[in-house]
Amino acid sequence: MPDHPTEHQVLNPATEEPIATVPATTPREVDAAVRRAARAQADWAATSAADRARLLRRFAATVDQHTEELARLEVREAGHPIGNARWEAGNVRDLLEYAAGGAERLLGAQIPVPGGLDVTFHEPLGVIGVIAPWNFPMPIAGWATAPALAAGNAVLLKPAETTPLTALRLAELALESGLPEDLFQVLPGAGPVTGAALVEHPVVAKIVFTGSTAVGKRIMAQCADQVKRVTLELGGKSPNIVFADADLERAAQAAPMAFLDNTGQDCCARSRILVQRSVHDRFLELLEPHIKAVTIGDPADPATQMGPLISAAQRERVRSYVAEDAPAAIRGSAPTGRGFWYPATVLAGLPEDAPAVTEEIFGPVAVVLPFEDEADAVRLANATRYGLAGSLWTRDVGRAVRVSRAVAAGNLSVNSHSAVRYWTPFGGFGESGLGRELGPGALAAFTETKNVFISTEE
Ligand code: NAD
Repeated sequence: MPDHPTEHQVLNPATEEPIATVPATTPREVDAAVRRAARAQADWAATSAADRARLLRRFAATVDQHTEELARLEVREAGHPIGNARWEAGNVRDLLEYAAGGAERLLGAQIPVPGGLDVTFHEPLGVIGVIAPWNFPMPIAGWATAPALAAGNAVLLKPAETTPLTALRLAELALESGLPEDLFQVLPGAGPVTGAALVEHPVVAKIVFTGSTAVGKRIMAQCADQVKRVTLELGGKSPNIVFADADLERAAQAAPMAFLDNTGQDCCARSRILVQRSVHDRFLELLEPHIKAVTIGDPADPATQMGPLISAAQRERVRSYVAEDAPAAIRGSAPTGRGFWYPATVLAGLPEDAPAVTEEIFGPVAVVLPFEDEADAVRLANATRYGLAGSLWTRDVGRAVRVSRAVAAGNLSVNSHSAVRYWTPFGGFGESGLGRELGPGALAAFTETKNVFISTEE
């Protein structure tokens, strides 16, 4: 009897209705897929950069033509509001186009030296294993896949058990766009079976893992065995720092969606709201109407800003952080009945070492903590094992630069909550991850650099 399911049922988290059953990929099937991918990759690597770019642009155009279909699939399997889901499909298209341009610019170097010539090559790594989480199934599939393909690699993508459908559709669209067979394959299945088979496979040259810090640590240890390359995009507990000199109304208006976007299931969620003590109470007063105004409900409705959590298990996890008697400063509403709903919740008055303050909740819950001055703000912001993102609100440009430099996180924004921008590097400090994705260096992360000295001596 297998220890793990042979198939996974996909539920609509807004209704709890089953929408699909997807077979799980066995380790034997993973092995066969890796071998087919390796053969496809050898031909792909020999293709000119211009041809690879042309096919990736065609793939981008196909994704663009299917935006609405992909977005509706994301709404059904992940419960994302339709507006967000359309953005996510557009993000995959943009990533493919950006990576296509990267393929054409992934140039080596030639250095003439006395007696010869140094030539530096950027060789593709080979077969890349991408292991994705359920919170942003489509964009995260694209983040690694687009640059890896552009740099001449093959990609085997293992989506999360709960959200395999958009990834499977993307693989079909890749084939329709003319990408070679077996170059980009999607292998649904359980993490400890299908995911582990990819991590352990000796032909897989690199693992790009996005998910929880606990699983990421295990994967890094397994990769060490083969000195396998690894990029980790892990958890976060990002601060939103509001100084007394900020435009408080603007900061209060922006704060809700900075932790409620994707129902808080966002690695960059600004779920620790740090407010200078002199404006702490005023800020909470300003924040309350904006939290209460967030529209939560049917994700297919274009007016919806917040959908359900992904699963019953995730809702239990979120609940476990919010004690019955928790000092909730603000609580929004949520639909009752079927669906994994949870109201927007802001907790205040918690000690700095409370689990809700230190651990990633991955739900629509934020904590508010007061700080005294700039040094105290930086101390609190950095009082975490994570370091993925963060925002600061101030009108003092010098302070904006000082605090941005002092906060140990990979992606900060000033008077804004922007975090993921495909043209800039993205990744975490500390236990938020290892390596960077996106940005101009995205393709280089999928290559090995080689130098060849050619003697010109007679
Ligand atoms: P998870 O770690 O449970 O699972 C992530 C993926 O890993 C899934 O596909 C899962 O099947 C697979 N997996 C699980 N165990 C495995 C194993 N032993 N070997 C190989 N694969 C295995 O995470 P999740 O709950 O799906 O995602 C939420 C987490 O992801 C949060 O912590 C969030 O912060 C993080 N995340 C980080 C980023 C980022 O860019 N830093 C982005 C999105 C999500």
